[in-house]
Amino acid sequence: MQHIKRILVANRGEIACRIMRTAHKLGLRTIAIYAEPDAQAPHVRMADEAWPIEGPSPTGAYLNMDAILEVAEKAGAHAIHPGYGFLSENADFARRVIKAGIRFVGPRPDAIEQMGDKSTAKAAMEAAGVPTVPGYHGEDQSPDRLLEEARRIGFPVLIKASAGGGGKGMKVAESVADFPDALESAQREALNAFGSNHVLLEKYLPVARHVEVQLLCDAHGHALYIGDRDCSVQRRHQKILEEAPAPGLSDALRAAMGEAAVRCARAIGYVNAGTVEFLLGPDDAFYFMEVNTRLQVEHPVTECVSGLDLVEWQLRIADDQPLPFTQDDVQLQGHAIEARIYAEQPAKAFLPSTGRLTQVVWPETSAGLRVDHAVESGTEVSAWFDPMLAKMIVHAPSRDAAINRLFEALCHTRIEGVQTNLDYLCHLLATDTFREARLHTRLCEEHPPGKQRLQEAVLPHAVAALLQEGRLQIPRPLRQWAWSSNTPIYETCFTLSAGDEHFHLNARLEGDTVSLRWRDAQHCFQIRWSETSGKVSVRAAQENVWRNVSYVYTEHTLILTEPELAIVSHQHQTSWEADSTAPENDTLAPMSGTVIKVLKSTGDTVEAGDTIMILEAMKMEHPVRASHEGILEKLFVSEGNTIREGQSLFTYASGKDGKEKDDD
Ligand code: ADP
Repeated sequence: MQHIKRILVANRGEIACRIMRTAHKLGLRTIAIYAEPDAQAPHVRMADEAWPIEGPSPTGAYLNMDAILEVAEKAGAHAIHPGYGFLSENADFARRVIKAGIRFVGPRPDAIEQMGDKSTAKAAMEAAGVPTVPGYHGEDQSPDRLLEEARRIGFPVLIKASAGGGGKGMKVAESVADFPDALESAQREALNAFGSNHVLLEKYLPVARHVEVQLLCDAHGHALYIGDRDCSVQRRHQKILEEAPAPGLSDALRAAMGEAAVRCARAIGYVNAGTVEFLLGPDDAFYFMEVNTRLQVEHPVTECVSGLDLVEWQLRIADDQPLPFTQDDVQLQGHAIEARIYAEQPAKAFLPSTGRLTQVVWPETSAGLRVDHAVESGTEVSAWFDPMLAKMIVHAPSRDAAINRLFEALCHTRIEGVQTNLDYLCHLLATDTFREARLHTRLCEEHPPGKQRLQEAVLPHAVAALLQEGRLQIPRPLRQWAWSSNTPIYETCFTLSAGDEHFHLNARLEGDTVSLRWRDAQHCFQIRWSETSGKVSVRAAQENVWRNVSYVYTEHTLILTEPELAIVSHQHQTSWEADSTAPENDTLAPMSGTVIKVLKSTGDTVEAGDTIMILEAMKMEHPVRASHEGILEKLFVSEGNTIREGQSLFTYASGKDGKEKDDD
């Protein structure tokens, strides 16, 4: 590198580590910054030097421009890489960095400014002839005008924070009646997360894919697209599975999107790595959504298929080097998928989960598997930072192979101390919708947590795996049949479950032959035991083929990876009763955070579904709703209070007259 020898990474967590990895590869000296709770964090240990910074809160420290610039100057940094989040899309910060004579690893500040606001970005793209979703992105923000525009656009309408990112400040209004509440909530979330409640409206496209194009643009006039990514699998409008290339696109469509992205870049004089996000309709029409003027969380999938280190090219471009390759040189190979592992509670609307990690085990690294993370046993997952724990990325010759590899890698990952979305990710990978690449942005709603279905064909494979593993309780032999061979016969009953679905099974075992009964079905098969754990073979009674079953077993959960992907838990009959399905107590805080609004008062009558209060954590709102009708007796919290998960929020007596009292 010519100009950059020392680089400050103005970030934390996995992305700070990832940037430093490349910086070290290029022979640069790395400078980390850290807020007090991160004093022992992996990014601090990895850097050549680490400087403390202060702020009003741990998050505030990483946003403290004065402190960061002071460190940069004292440490003699030649460049600052902002990572993603924090100050990465802050034009003022980029300006101040440049003014201090330091290189900002990202685009010019005015491009950040223009694209940072979704409203001005849309206007700029319309002017550049890039198709955008029909909507309203005007200055008049009065509720009446917004409602009038929503009516003109036609419901459902998506309300978006103009300054938005990460799916925050984004609400769908299904109808005129929904609009005022959705608008208020979007504006409040926007103000809280971005300091501005300016919104824009868009026609909500219910069946669309999120397809984005990676760009690399140097300061010498070269702008290239480095393939596309599909990031349709999202919860709370935030990506959780991303893949490259976007499956099923024709070459012509791919080229059209890539060229449209390059047009976007040229229209704003874009330099460095960036991403243009599009919504792709079922008719192959695509619409500009936004430009992310930074490195994306999901950049590794593009790195896998293109063989390019995007951080290296970001640094080289910031160092004034020209891109030495052309569009034709960009060749993509194989298929890559990334899964984002979050500390969250899928069953509770994906609310963040906080706590200390007591155990963290990653799968063995091998070719084609990459784990980007900065957590370890003992790491405290607090409500201050984004709840993403790690990214697991696989690269394989085909999409099917990549899915299987990722499923297996997720199965070999153990994270304890907080709840995670690991099982949910596996569940998504195993759905036919995902496997057949029928991708769209509501896929998670179509396959909600806890709603996984178990195919009956999986049952014999699961039973064989559990027997091979010695996980089925086998009682004394039933009786020995006088006329049969000397082989004793055993019988056992147990339940196999996947999500909400349960199969109560009866298995009769005679040597290596199993006769399985459930509901009104029966299946007889033979097992061929294996010397090693994780494999067993099965042959159905009427068939001549042996099917190999591969699996992983962890604490009552069986994860089948072959011949099909499935997650099954098992219980013995004696414990069926213990499997209580009592509803969760709705009066306890479902997460740690802050009470931002209390909508009901003591003595109020509430109907089932009424919102009693709104909580917020990690800049996301969560309404606490009554599960049944009743009278509000006591409120234990008020607006502005900080609450801990499981804390009692209120009590209410059930029924209209409030006679039947609830425990809380
Ligand atoms: P953010 O900057 O908060 O990530 P985006 O504008 O990129 O917000 O949108 C996030 C996601 O919301 C998209 O990936 C897409 O799934 C969904 N989305 C955005 N706009 C629309 C729309 N008009 N119709 C349907 N879904 C949309």
